[in-house]
Amino acid sequence: MPAEFPDFRLGSVLATSFTATLTERRGKAVERIPTPQRLVDWLAVNGLAVESCTTAQLELARELRESIHAAATATATRDALPASAVRIINECSIQGRAAAILTPEGDRRWRLGSASRVEDALGVIAADAISIIAGERDGKMALCASPTCRAAFFDTSQSRTRKWCDMNTCGNRQKKARFNANQRKNGTAERTGVT
Ligand SMILES: [Zn+2]
Repeated sequence: MPAEFPDFRLGSVLATSFTATLTERRGKAVERIPTPQRLVDWLAVNGLAVESCTTAQLELARELRESIHAAATATATRDALPASAVRIINECSIQGRAAAILTPEGDRRWRLGSASRVEDALGVIAADAISIIAGERDGKMALCASPTCRAAFFDTSQSRTRKWCDMNTCGNRQKKARFNANQRKNGTAERTGVT
């Protein structure tokens, strides 16, 4: 794996892990699936191994990704779902042919319709997005507090007050920025306005 490719940001929710393959959307955006092979790598890491991916399939994947991002953002802000995003999510869900498989150990695995069909993998991701946007799962769509990120993430914390898409990246950076700002203020009381 060439070192110049940015790492993946992996979370516990498939659909928002997928939207996190483009980060810092409101800042200097980082594309984490810049090539078809990187999408193949990402799918393999997420239990959706495919043999190959074309440029057209990568484009379709990115179209789905941005549609999920748009619909999830609208859900978090309680706006109407963008019709084009809904259409693309549904098309991807309909086109996918994947089966949930129960392993003898009691785990769920996905079996794709054929080894090389990226569309089957995208169908699984689209269905996952539908389940969180439709409110079927225990959690709440929220937007990352980082102004350069604003990623939609699925908050499963008990209090539903998670602020950042990722504690190790956005959360840490925000904490450091706040710490530095406080240092500059030379001991003035910590402001809690930034949430
Ligand atoms: Zn973030």
